[in-house]
Amino acid sequence: MNIKSFHPPQRVLMGPGPSDVSPRVLEAMSRPTLGHLDPVFVSMMDEMKALLKYAFRTENELTMPVSAPGSAGMETCFVNLVEPGDKVVICQNGVFAGRMKENVERAGGVAVMVQDEWGRAIDPQKLEDALKANPDAKIVAFVHAETSTGAQSDAKTLVGIAHKHNCLAIVDAVTSLGGSRLLVDEWKIDAIYSGTQKCISCTPGLSPVSFSNDALEKIKNRKTRVQSWFLDLNLVMGYWGGTTKRAYHHTAPINALYGLHEALVILQEEGLENSWARHQKNHLALRAGLEAMGLSFVVPEGERLPQLNAISVPEGVDEAQVRALLLSDYGLEIGAGLGAMAGKVWRIGLMGHASNPKNVRLCLAALDDVLGRLKAPVQRGVAVAAANAHL
Ligand SMILES: *Cc1c(COP(=O)(O)O)cnc(C)c1O
Repeated sequence: MNIKSFHPPQRVLMGPGPSDVSPRVLEAMSRPTLGHLDPVFVSMMDEMKALLKYAFRTENELTMPVSAPGSAGMETCFVNLVEPGDKVVICQNGVFAGRMKENVERAGGVAVMVQDEWGRAIDPQKLEDALKANPDAKIVAFVHAETSTGAQSDAKTLVGIAHKHNCLAIVDAVTSLGGSRLLVDEWKIDAIYSGTQKCISCTPGLSPVSFSNDALEKIKNRKTRVQSWFLDLNLVMGYWGGTTKRAYHHTAPINALYGLHEALVILQEEGLENSWARHQKNHLALRAGLEAMGLSFVVPEGERLPQLNAISVPEGVDEAQVRALLLSDYGLEIGAGLGAMAGKVWRIGLMGHASNPKNVRLCLAALDDVLGRLKAPVQRGVAVAAANAHL
């Protein structure tokens, strides 16, 4: 064998995640590894919790990164809050709520699915009706930012309905954190999980989570043990929780945490509201360019995510060939459709560090060229100018 070091090419990541990582984050990750109980590292953990509270807009004491990707944050919420027999109402308007169902059932719970059209926001009235029909429900769960379709739901209203019916609310904010308005305390969200590789501009592999006091009470008073040893918060809290002496649970991913710390410092420097506004501005510019070409959005205006733009593939165009040419000729990655939308849409991400005017122009110019070469029915030479009017 003569295998050499791996040197990945430089890409522009404009898909559904991972998104481009800030060079400052990559540099932070290359700093010297410390022991996971080193006092210097422990003080960095305290800063990390403060930074995550800032990003989530919460005072929740139990706010920390799970040592695994967004899917593990999802699982942390469900395995800790769902006890065998618990009924959980799940609003589904895309792929990720399907995974919530899997999680509920594997934790021994009963999932009641409330179906909405893919590409639309969740209909609060349907949740209200489902909770009236299921007065024994204990938890409501939904995805704030459906990355599979590009739709944004009204989390504040949905959480309000859950509480009116005495349910805890679990919210997936993997794609919303840092990219669009999210107020954990003001909206009274009980359990929330996110990811580092979308609008936080960090590498994949960590999942920030936060739990309200009501959620914490339920976790502490469980009648049965959490079925997952690794994700059992009663155990994890011995390392991440409170200000008491920290004990070994698992070896924290030290250098990955340096990266998240730096990513959150960058977010704090920019300001959370400014980050939301930047995502919105670049979305409007991209939108102007795409619409000038004659391409159309899947999600109706007013329900669109600024950080994930799902657009319909024009008739007769091989969507995979377009993505392949963007990657080979421009080093640009955009996303394919997922689940029911496979083959029908492209998903263009403008997430975190990647949400910038240069990427908006690059993507539009590259699409103009590639779609033109494939003789797709689009208006040529107008997209970048249309976007420029917004930048
Ligand atoms: C990406 C994503 C996840 C899963 O996150 P991973 O880091 O890939 O495990 C969950 N929910 C939503 C809405 C996502 O976009």
